[in-house]
Amino acid sequence: MPRPILATIDTEALSHNLRIVAGRLARDTVDSPRIWAVIKARGYGHGLSAALQGFSQADGLAMLDLDEAVHCRESGWSGPILLLEGFFETSDLEVLNRYRIATTLHCNEQMAMLEACRIPHALDAYVKLDSGMHRLGFLPDEFRVTFRRAQALRSAGILNSVGKMTHFARADDDPAFTREQLARFQAATQELPGPVSVCNSAATLTPGFAASVSDCHAGQTQWVRPGICLYGASPFAGQSADSFGLHPAMTLSSQLISAHVLPTGEAIGYGQTFRADHAMRVGIVACGYADGYPRHAVTGTPVTVAGVRTQLLGRVSMDMLAVDLGPVPQAHVGSPVVLWGVGGPSVDEVALSCGTIGYELLTAITPRVPRSVLQASPSGNPL
Ligand SMILES: *Cc1c(COP(=O)(O)O)cnc(C)c1O
Repeated sequence: MPRPILATIDTEALSHNLRIVAGRLARDTVDSPRIWAVIKARGYGHGLSAALQGFSQADGLAMLDLDEAVHCRESGWSGPILLLEGFFETSDLEVLNRYRIATTLHCNEQMAMLEACRIPHALDAYVKLDSGMHRLGFLPDEFRVTFRRAQALRSAGILNSVGKMTHFARADDDPAFTREQLARFQAATQELPGPVSVCNSAATLTPGFAASVSDCHAGQTQWVRPGICLYGASPFAGQSADSFGLHPAMTLSSQLISAHVLPTGEAIGYGQTFRADHAMRVGIVACGYADGYPRHAVTGTPVTVAGVRTQLLGRVSMDMLAVDLGPVPQAHVGSPVVLWGVGGPSVDEVALSCGTIGYELLTAITPRVPRSVLQASPSGNPL
C-alpha cells in the first residue's frame, strides 16, 4: 500500500466558486464583467486538468506559463487565454500566434520585440499600467505613449485588440490605497479605447471596485482576474472563504500510522520543541514537509483526526507530523486525518498558524502526493 496521503480535488467546488463570484459581480455591477479564471502555478496547485474542468464556464483563462497555455489549447479550451507576464523572447510570439494566446505588455523590451516581429495573425494584448505595485508595467507618465505605440501595431497588423490593465498591491487590506491605485489607473487610461482589466480576488469580492471600473469605462468590456477565491480560499486575513459561500477545492488528507503515549516530561520530534507536562496520547500522521505541509507550522496548528479537531505537536518532519489525541481517545492507527479542506481546518487557518497565506500552501503540494480528482456529475453534484 502506498503512504496514505492524498490531495483530493473537487472540480464541482471550482465551478461552484466561479458561480459565487459571477453572482456577486452581477449584484455589484450593471454590466457584469467577464471573468478570467486565473490558473497560474498549475491551477494554484490543483492541477491544470482539474482547473480546466472546474472552470469550463469561465469567460477566459489567465496564467503565466506558455507551455501551460499551449496545454490548455491542446486539451480543447477554445476561449480566450491571457499570459499575465506576457512573452519573454521573440520566438514566443510565433507560439502565441499559433495558439491564439493574448499577451500582457509591461515593458519597452516587449514593445520592441513586437515592433520587430513578423507574425501571420494579429495578437490581442493588454498594456499594463504600474499604478503603485511597482513590479511590472508602465508608469502613468509613460502609459499614453506606450498605448499609442500599441495602437500603431494594430495598423501594422501585429496587434488586434489593445486593452488596459493594472494590478493592486493591497486590495486585501487597504481600501484607501486601492482606491488611490484605481484613481491613478482611471487618470492614465481615461478615454483610451479597448477592454479593461483591474480586479484580483480581493477587489472582485469587495463591493464597489468592479462597479467603479465599469462606471469610468462605460461601454468598454471589463474583465476581472480572480484566482485564490476560485479555489475556495480567502484573499483576506480576517474574513473566511466560508463567509463568502466559497467551497474548498483541495482537501489534503492522510491517516495515523502510529498512536502511542508520550510520557510525562518527554518531548516529541526534532528539536524537542514540544514537551508533555502530563502523559498524553499522541498520533503520528503520514504527512511532512516533503509533501508540502509547511515546516513552519507551530504546535497548536489545527488538524482534524477522525472528524475531531485537534492540534499539531512539535516540529513537522520531512515525512511525518505529530498530533494530540487527547480530544480523540477513539483514534487508532488508520484513523483518517484531514490537514486542510473538507472535514478539516481551512487552508487559511493552517496558513495563519505558520505565518503565511493559503496561496503558498496550495501551490506547495509536492509531486509525490497522489491526487484524486472528483468529477462533477451533469446534475452538478460530485459523483
Ligand atoms: C495572481 C494574479 C491574479 C490573481 O490574484 P488572486 O489574489 O489570486 O485573485 C490576478 N492578476 C495578476 C496579474 C496576477 O498575477
